Amino acid sequence: MFELGDQHRMVQDMFRQWCERELLPKVPSLEKGEPPYDLMRQMLDAFGMRDALRASLNKRLSKMGDDGKPRASGDAKGKEGDELESAMRDPLISFLLVKEMSRISPGYATSFGVSTGLAGFNVMAKGTKRQIEKYGIPLVTLDKVGSWCLSEPGSGSDAFGSMRTTARKSADGGYVLNGTKTFITNGPFADVFVLYAKLDKGDGNPNKAVHAFILERGMTGLSTGQPFDKMGMQDSPTSEVFLEDVHIPAENLLGEREKDPDAARDDTRQNLGHERSGIPAMCLGIIERCYELSMKYAKERVQFGRPILDFQAVQLKLANMYIHYQNVWNGVMRLAWAAREGKPDLAFTCAQKVYCAKAAVEVAMDSIQIHGGYGYMREYHVEKLARDAKMLELGAGTTDINLLQVVRLERERLT
Ligand SMILES: Cc1cc2nc3c(=O)[nH]c(=O)nc-3n(C[C@H](O)[C@H](O)[C@H](O)COP(=O)(O)OP(=O)(O)OC[C@H]3O[C@@H](n4cnc5c(N)ncnc54)[C@H](O)[C@@H]3O)c2cc1C
Repeated sequence: MFELGDQHRMVQDMFRQWCERELLPKVPSLEKGEPPYDLMRQMLDAFGMRDALRASLNKRLSKMGDDGKPRASGDAKGKEGDELESAMRDPLISFLLVKEMSRISPGYATSFGVSTGLAGFNVMAKGTKRQIEKYGIPLVTLDKVGSWCLSEPGSGSDAFGSMRTTARKSADGGYVLNGTKTFITNGPFADVFVLYAKLDKGDGNPNKAVHAFILERGMTGLSTGQPFDKMGMQDSPTSEVFLEDVHIPAENLLGEREKDPDAARDDTRQNLGHERSGIPAMCLGIIERCYELSMKYAKERVQFGRPILDFQAVQLKLANMYIHYQNVWNGVMRLAWAAREGKPDLAFTCAQKVYCAKAAVEVAMDSIQIHGGYGYMREYHVEKLARDAKMLELGAGTTDINLLQVVRLERERLT
């Protein structure tokens, strides 16, 4: 369970070669604001993934009922499909791809993960057949760029309680949306917005259920802000999304079924768990690369007539990096196993998210320290990994929010 087999190792090598050859030289221009999506499409094409996914998912559509669920036999959303598609369903392969992208650019990995995962797989999992055809498949194949819109200027950690965005029922059975979302990854360029709003049925009920809606660029009343200027993740465009009386048909409610507040909340929480489980693989990429670069530099850099690797203070930092590297690897393997077996463990996922993000920040900062002044220079790459790493302690629930979630869940389990 805890080591890569030959097939996974081969896939990892393939992803690494592509990322070092194609992504690494593009990082400076991506960080200056060039949209990363064409490169992502090229990446999927390089591995034959886009065409294969499109063909395979379209074939699966024919086995779905209108509700997006498999008809009688077969498994329209499940485990059938060709070899390539089933390989792409292997959580460890997804984690390896995320790790390899994150060795070079965690920002690029974030934009990719939000578009194909948080937006795309969300629609694939919860959408109706029509929604899967129109939005889910184009998002997963990156024919369309997706965003996932939960946070608002006044609601971050308290995402549900403080949410102000509303979807009011309209006379024609559709919805009218109003509100502002912020910090939205891919916001400036997204074609599709999977967006959370409180359902206002006009009955004065204060306990409004949060539902997901699918919006498209070009809808009247929907606009996006300029890309934010950020500390890190500069190659992942982020912006606000504004909604002013955006009128959408009933068929743009994800799943086309209104739910009670508890069921709707559970749905969104499931997504947050999914988002959190991808973070450790990103951290692994950062830690692995920083550790390798630091060891190499410490062997080559000579001060006081000796390689700095001879100094114990440097050795201790490298040993600490090794400890984090091994622990994070083990955590990622367990998350992959849990996803494959269909045994998600939210407390473990939140705990891993916290541990791995802290470890990534610590390792990246120590890596800069080992590189001395050179580590502070753009050219030496570890400074980008450090800037990007910090975001992993904030997004997908801050460190404190994840810790509180661990205690909440464990308190229930241990009574
Ligand atoms: C680069 C970037 C990309 C992002 N992408 C997306 C995206 O695509 N979609 C999306 O919906 N969101 C996105 N986010 C938003 C992100 O999820 C939020 O920033 C995060 O949830 C924290 O919310 P907040 O920033 O409002 O902080 P706040 O909730 O205001 O928290 C501020 C501080 O208070 C602490 N705090 C708050 N409540 C408690 C409590 N009860 N107990 C203890 N401490 C508490 C927090 O831990 C934190 O330290 C992104 C953010 C960034 C920076």
